[in-house]
Amino acid sequence: MTQARKAVVIGAGFGGLALAIRLQAAGVATTLLERRDKPGGRAYVYEDQGFVFDAGPTVITDPSAIEELFTLAGRRMDDYVQLLPVAPFYRLCWEDGTQFDYANDQAALDRQIHALNPRDVAGYQRFLAYSKAVFEEGYLKLGAVPFLSFRDMIQAGPQLARLQAWRSVYGKVSRFIENEKLRQAFSFHSLLVGGNPFATSSIYTLIHALERQWGVWFPKGGTGALVRGLVRLFEDLGGELALNADVARIEVSEGKVSGVRCQDGRFWAADCVASNADVMHTYADLLGHEARGRDEGRRLAGKRFSNSLFVIHFGLKRPQPQLQHHTVCFGPRYRGLIDEIFKGPGLAEDFSLYLHAPCVTDPDLAPPGCSSHYVLSPVPHLGNAPIDWEVEGPRYRERIFAYLEKHYMPGLREDLVTSRIFTPHDFRDELNAHLGSAFSLEPVLQQSAWFRPHNRDAHLSNLYLVGAGTHPGAGVPGVIGSAKATAGLMLEGIAHA
Ligand SMILES: Cc1cc2nc3c(=O)[nH]c(=O)nc-3n(C[C@H](O)[C@H](O)[C@H](O)COP(=O)(O)OP(=O)(O)OC[C@H]3O[C@@H](n4cnc5c(N)ncnc54)[C@H](O)[C@@H]3O)c2cc1C
Repeated sequence: MTQARKAVVIGAGFGGLALAIRLQAAGVATTLLERRDKPGGRAYVYEDQGFVFDAGPTVITDPSAIEELFTLAGRRMDDYVQLLPVAPFYRLCWEDGTQFDYANDQAALDRQIHALNPRDVAGYQRFLAYSKAVFEEGYLKLGAVPFLSFRDMIQAGPQLARLQAWRSVYGKVSRFIENEKLRQAFSFHSLLVGGNPFATSSIYTLIHALERQWGVWFPKGGTGALVRGLVRLFEDLGGELALNADVARIEVSEGKVSGVRCQDGRFWAADCVASNADVMHTYADLLGHEARGRDEGRRLAGKRFSNSLFVIHFGLKRPQPQLQHHTVCFGPRYRGLIDEIFKGPGLAEDFSLYLHAPCVTDPDLAPPGCSSHYVLSPVPHLGNAPIDWEVEGPRYRERIFAYLEKHYMPGLREDLVTSRIFTPHDFRDELNAHLGSAFSLEPVLQQSAWFRPHNRDAHLSNLYLVGAGTHPGAGVPGVIGSAKATAGLMLEGIAHA
């Protein structure tokens, strides 16, 4: 029965791709419409003079969620993409020269924790046990379940209460761990999905257990190779991907979505539509001609959105053997800086950076003897700091390069072959991200699960959401989980239509 049904998915980010694969694998003829010239969304790829730059996600966790997309389609992931282990997971560095290699090796971890504070060795074990309990409840049980009614939320309530989900990530970590550097080391993870460790629910400590359980991975050929593998899987199943297809309107007829129209006038009829585009853009722009779109757009405008990012992709004519694949460079301030990143009103004088050195795992991402990199600095979104990035961007790049040169990459500017920046303006203009937010709605408890925009619209019964703005939220495992939740609802809707 499902063979005759047609679905359209707007946006080819990881969420849109995963959903399109699930629908197509279930026999629903699915078209994936992407406004840019390449798929991937935040995981776009830039190439220049033989350097390959992944634009976004580089820390790939929960490979089983990715593999599931292949197995449900009756294929083998290995035939499409190879995941390489990353060790250590991250190197954490502070300005006083302290280094902490966070790896899946308990003895090495204990040694390093002991060197910073012997009492924290036992504290870490208690933290890990807590993180595992949250992982079981928050990820394994609830990560791919849609929260459509408040009853679902009430049912999850006792577990959330038992796990003290009202506490912040940093608050919870601090109950187990005394040393400030270790508190930073075990609380920064929520920043990877746009969560302020001082405000985001302690549920997000589950990322720690998730990494310990399944490791940290990097696709051979870069994250872009994973995107290409998923696109090939989708197309092998008979799905259609249309690039340069900039959706302008979600059309509604007699209280139901009937299809989507692109800026260039092309129309795709559909029995159901899912949007992987920014939630605010989906309601306020694509559905702004309907009362439902305007109402929901107004409601969302009152929500808290995550910070933005300033990213520099750069290629060097030398390898950087002193670096690990992932480095987190903590600045002199933690709480004060994060406060300014989430609240503005301007750009802080200091910064904490994430530095990507993918050639450590895959040297083919740069010409022989060279290295590809990106460095990102979390910055306020445009609503909290309306910075003129055309002017500030090049200045900020110089400040970050000078800092990297001093602390981590001597001679960087002399070795520079190419560089490009991606600013909050680009998040807004390239990705249609509200306020240039890098991660959509901030993952605080009052904007999570049922309180997040639902995977199925409450009024238009054949309109769905997938990706960072819906449940469970941002991050590659999050949006792949959202695709599972949304696909379940869509297939159920199709079966009952
Ligand atoms: C720099 C950076 C680093 C990150 N690092 C990590 C990491 O290491 N690990 C991790 O797990 N997560 C990471 N994240 C978060 C993660 O990348 C995102 O949460 C996730 O990729 C978002 O996926 P998504 O499915 O929500 O869609 P997106 O990637 O946001 O894609 C949405 C797509 O919709 C398209 N679109 C928008 N409007 C329209 C329209 N009108 N018509 C057609 N198409 C449209 C966009 O062009 C885009 O391709 C990072 C994010 C960033 C920005």
